[in-house]
Parts: sequence; C-alpha cells; structure tokens
Amino acid sequence: MIESDVAIIGGGPGGYVAAIRAAQLGLKVALVEKEALGGTCLNRGCIPTKALIRGVELLDAIRNAEEYGIAVAGVSTDFQKMMARKEAVVKRLVGGLEAVLLSHNIRIVRGVATLVSATEVEVAGEAKENIKARNVILAPGAVSAPIPAPGAQSPDILDSQAALSLGEIPKSLAIIGAGVIGVEFATIFARLGSSVTLLEALPKVLPQEDAEITSILEKSLRKIGIGIHTSAQVTRITDVPAGKSISFTVNGQPKEIQAQRVLAAVGRRPNTEGLGLDRLGIATEKGFIKVNERLETSLPGVYAVGDAVGGLQLAHKAFAEGEIAAENAAGQKTAMDYRVIPRCIYTIPEAAAVGMSEAEAREAGHDVQVGRFPLAGSGKATVLGETRGLVKVVADGDTGEILGVHICGPQATELIHEAVLVMNLEGTVEDLAAAIHAHPTLSEAVREAALDSRGLAIHMPARRRGAN
Ligand code: NAD
Repeated sequence: MIESDVAIIGGGPGGYVAAIRAAQLGLKVALVEKEALGGTCLNRGCIPTKALIRGVELLDAIRNAEEYGIAVAGVSTDFQKMMARKEAVVKRLVGGLEAVLLSHNIRIVRGVATLVSATEVEVAGEAKENIKARNVILAPGAVSAPIPAPGAQSPDILDSQAALSLGEIPKSLAIIGAGVIGVEFATIFARLGSSVTLLEALPKVLPQEDAEITSILEKSLRKIGIGIHTSAQVTRITDVPAGKSISFTVNGQPKEIQAQRVLAAVGRRPNTEGLGLDRLGIATEKGFIKVNERLETSLPGVYAVGDAVGGLQLAHKAFAEGEIAAENAAGQKTAMDYRVIPRCIYTIPEAAAVGMSEAEAREAGHDVQVGRFPLAGSGKATVLGETRGLVKVVADGDTGEILGVHICGPQATELIHEAVLVMNLEGTVEDLAAAIHAHPTLSEAVREAALDSRGLAIHMPARRRGAN
C-alpha cells in the first residue's frame, strides 16, 4: 500500500500540473499513468502536431524562397524523417517532464487506476498496488469520438493519434469535422502533397470561431488545394478499391467523395471507462465528470480536471484546473476563473482568439464596437511577406472594455497573449492603446485594431463616419 496525501489519476496536462502544484504545497503525491507521461498533449496532440507543422512551415518558406532572391533547387520531403524528428521532440519533452516530477519527489506509479473509494485507488500495473490518499484528483483525459454513420467504426478509419503514426503520406485524405483537429491536419497533409477534403456538418469551418477570421482561414485552406464541404452530413462510409467512399448530403443533396484514408475529427469524449465513477455514484453529465468551481466532484474529497470535465478541451485550461484542484486538495479555497482562456489554431497562417466573437457579444446585449486592422497595413507583416490576415477587437462601446480579440495571421498564437493580459485585468481599448508598442512589430496591429474600435487607427485610411 502506497500512502500519500493526494493520488492523481492521469499524467496529462491536468494531472501532472496538479501533481507539481500539490508537491509545491508540501503534499505527498502519487501520480498514476498507464502510458507515457504528458498525456494526449505531449504524446498524441499539441506537441507532435506542432512539430510536424514546423516542418511544413519550413517547406513553405523554401518553396517561396525565390521571391526573396534565393534560388533553391531539388526540394524534397522525407516523411519518415519528419516523423522521426517529431518523435524525438516528444521523447525529449516527456523525459524532461519526468525529471521535473521526480525533482518534486512525486511518486510515479505505472498502471491502470480504478477508484475504490474516495480515499483509495487500485492500480493494475506490473503488480497490483493500492494507493491510500486523503484526496484524489481525476485527470483521465478524452478520446476521439466516433462518427455516427454506418461504416464509420471500421478500424482503418484514422483518429488523430493514428494519423500521427502513419508510415506514408496518403495520396488522398478525407477529414470528417473541420474543427481544430480537422484544419490542423488538413494543413499538414495538404502541404505534404496529399489531396485533402474537409467535410463539416455545420455551415462553416471552425464553427465556434468569429466568422470574419474563419472566412480568411477558409480561403487560405482552399488556396492550398483543400476541398471543403460545409453543412455536410455524412451518411455512410464504404470500402472501395481506392480506399473509402464517403457518402454525405449537403442541404438534402446526396454527394460522394473517395479518398485513400479517412480521418475522424468530430470531437473528443471523456475517457472515464473503468474509472469506477458509477460504482461510487460520482455525478456525470453527458459522460463528463460534474465539478463545482473548486473542481470537486459530487464525492467530497475527489476532484476532477481537464478534458474529462468538459468545457474547452485545451491543455492550458487543464493546466489551470490542475493548479486549482491541487490547491483545494491542500486545504486552500480557490476557484476556477474561465473568463479569459485563449484558443490557438496552428494553421498557416495561424489563428487565435480570446473571449467573445462579435456575434456572441451582440447576443450578450453589449453595445458592440469593432476595431479591425488588416495585416496588409502592417509594416512588419509586409516585410515578412505574410500580409494575409486580420486583427479584430470586439469591445463594449460604452465602457471600452475588451470583450474579445480575434487574429488570423503569422504568430497569431503568440500575439493573442497581449489581449489575454489586458482582458484578464478587465482592461479597455484605451488601456491597450496607451501602451507604446515597438515598431516594426506584428504586435502593433493589435494596438491599431484597438484604436480602430474608436475610429482612431493611425496606419489606416480615415474611416467613413459611422462605419464600424
Ligand atoms: P472540435 O469540437 O473542435 O471540432 C469537431 C468538428 O466536427 C466541429 O466543427 C463539428 O461541427 C464537426 N462535426 C461533428 N460531427 C460531425 C459529423 N458527423 N460530420 C461532420 N462534421 C462533424 O473537435 P476536434 O477538432 O475533434 O478536437 C477535439 C478537441 O481537441 C477540441 O476541443 C479542440 O479544441 C482540441 N484541440 C485543440 C487544438 C489546439 O488548441 N490547437 C488542437 C487540436 C485539438
């Protein structure tokens, strides 16, 4: 029997951060993981996909080099080598994470955990071992959701994990679901020469994101040859000699495409099977573990964090929840604040957002003022040769409070953090614009967009009166 103050089930972003925070607070921690430390993010998600996108970005730069007066001959890609580098990046980070955990004296227990009671966890590993703990934190993550159509459960339909282990670039790839996974994988494989088609059930790609931003992104996806069908309801997937045939309807009209491989990217469901939730009467909603703002489940002393509790399924949201759950397990009284969580999409160009879209802000009853700054007006973007894109600021017209910021363009995933900081402090467009921004930088575009919400952008033609 292992004795600890807190037992954590799952070594992904939610679980490992909870473990480190609990250790910082002086708790004795046991962390159970059945596979590699780092969870989906590190092993099968954020990191490996970004490692591949980095290669694709370099390829793009080389392909465009001539425009800059650089002659490059004989460009070719070696997919195996790209995949090997991706593996090396993952291995290095997993190793680093293990070292950090061990430096905090966190006991890593390898095996599959089941909750026996609110204070006991059974681990089936090489040997059976039980952990006795005052508190338990559940961080089991999520797994790909199946496509609800006949033929879609076939084992040769890829999920994002399987797509990251492919031995070769598929000649053609149909991706079902144009959410974040869909558009990121479409970017990778289309740039590597695959003929990619995206099928999205809702009327636009990235349905939750601001329409102006997704329209720019959709155009750039189409420009690199990605076929996009929106409002597409998949009705059946069948085997054909060339791979798979996908039947779908668009506004009632039947259509069909064929592709060598199919990737399912229609969302992720909580990975709670076998955890013992039902037996202990831990409440769930649509499979997600129900928690209060302190991240405590319906069973006192048992907390839950990350993808399995629902909401945004993002590593950094799980990080934040892990910290809060650990603090509460250590006897503090802290609550999660979900107001300001950035959303980053690693396409080319990138997209990123925080807070409300323009439509959401209007629905919430704000007197909305919108500021825009197209990157075509940015000195730095022009120098970079990357002028496709826009910064859009959604503000409350009365107070100037920034309600949302939406960016499409180079480094969007870094630029968004200026908005995150201002919004976290409940700052206004005036607060943001009062800060002197260095020139030439992409960050200036964020300031210009904030100014534009008041009709005061500097590096832009004067606004027509009344336009917003
Ligand atoms: P998602 O919810 O982002 O997108 C799923 C998409 O599939 C939606 O647009 C939905 O309308 C569509 N869809 C659902 N059922 C469909 C059907 N039957 N046919 C066609 N389309 C259908 O989910 P995801 O892309 O699978 O990603 C899972 C989670 O992982 C998300 O929460 C996402 O935010 C997260 N993730 C984040 C990043 C990042 O932060 N860069 C990257 C990858 C994944």
